[in-house]
Amino acid sequence: MALIVQKFGGTSVADPDRMRAVAEHVAFTKRHGNDVVVVVSAMGKTTDNLISLAAQVSNTRSGREMDMLLTTGERMSAALVCMAISDLGIDAVSFTGSQVGIITDNKHGKAKIIEVKGDRVREALAQGKVCVVAGFQGVSNENEITTLGRGASDLTASALAQALNADACEIYTDVTGVFTADPRIVPQARKLAHVNFDEMLEMAGAGSKVLALRSVEFARNHNVPLHVRSSFTWEPGTWVSSKEPGMEEPIVSGVVTDTSEAKVTVIGVPDRPGISAALFEPLADANVNVDMIVQNTSKEGTTDISFTMPKADMAVAEQIVARVAAEIGAVGVNHNASISKISLVGAGMKTSPGIAAKMFRVLADNGVNIEMISTSTIRISVVCSAADLETAARCLHTAFGLDSGQAYAAPLPERK
Ligand code: ASP
Ligand code: MG
Repeated sequence: MALIVQKFGGTSVADPDRMRAVAEHVAFTKRHGNDVVVVVSAMGKTTDNLISLAAQVSNTRSGREMDMLLTTGERMSAALVCMAISDLGIDAVSFTGSQVGIITDNKHGKAKIIEVKGDRVREALAQGKVCVVAGFQGVSNENEITTLGRGASDLTASALAQALNADACEIYTDVTGVFTADPRIVPQARKLAHVNFDEMLEMAGAGSKVLALRSVEFARNHNVPLHVRSSFTWEPGTWVSSKEPGMEEPIVSGVVTDTSEAKVTVIGVPDRPGISAALFEPLADANVNVDMIVQNTSKEGTTDISFTMPKADMAVAEQIVARVAAEIGAVGVNHNASISKISLVGAGMKTSPGIAAKMFRVLADNGVNIEMISTSTIRISVVCSAADLETAARCLHTAFGLDSGQAYAAPLPERK
């Protein structure tokens, strides 16, 4: 008998019909002789709605109270999905993160998992029950309710799969798997049967929204294979595991696009030790997630520093950068929110030189101007104008042999 962890995201449990469909699938899996642990997210946009509700009643919103509030979303789904499963004649029991012993540190809003006890899940499974666990939450070693960060129900699922030594961890979402590109931008995109953890990590870091970054990190560190698939079609999806690509597989696995970042340039910065630290330390202290950084060679003792960061952090960053620029005697600051980041990701790049050169040639031939470049061993990212996003993504997808040969036709969820 296999033990299967099935995680259902917000769109998969968005309304009573979706919940009943999920319950049918869980019951089907159970009736086929498997033990099942279900992990659920909050219904649809519940978490966002709770956050805006809090903003309407308070300007301070302590982490503790936010966590008390937000964990109710997942708790609601867990109880409801559990009831729907019971109605199908399957014994089921719901648990909060705290009840199943997901022990975390005390960092409200982004707590780290220290230990997963899982005793109550094991007991319930031994009694033949399906367990439905509220995702995204735990309890701190000071006995406070915590949340694990946005999108972290995936993390609950992989952590439980590891603790219970599950045979599979299935992540059900509103897309049918991991694609070679976002089909809303590149219609020729196709579903990948497999990506390895390193590729998935780079894809998540480059802006792919299919799996939350920390859950991939956890799955890689503990070698928990994930199966990302759709709760709308139930077809086989994409396996994410430690398997390295074979000899004949393409060097580039996917083109990842990201429009969530903005670019800041500090012009005429004096070129002397300590300047970068003076700029990036306060940004780090303010939790601004700086991504790419480029510093030009200096001319007559001054240089320009450009960096990208989430548009969402722009307001905070603007103030800091303006203050630091004045302190260090920079000439000026430029902001540009109309940029896009396009990345090629592929484990095969490690052993194939010339991918970057080919990428730049293809972009040049298609009239796309590159503003910034950054690389890792298995990723090359460029920043270009937001207006060039589609052209750049599509021509790279074609040039690196990823096109499916037919335009993607299935209905697609709204862009996040
Ligand atoms: N409901 C939480 C969020 O939206 C956790 C999750 O969906 O995984 O961030
Ligand atoms: Mg979610």
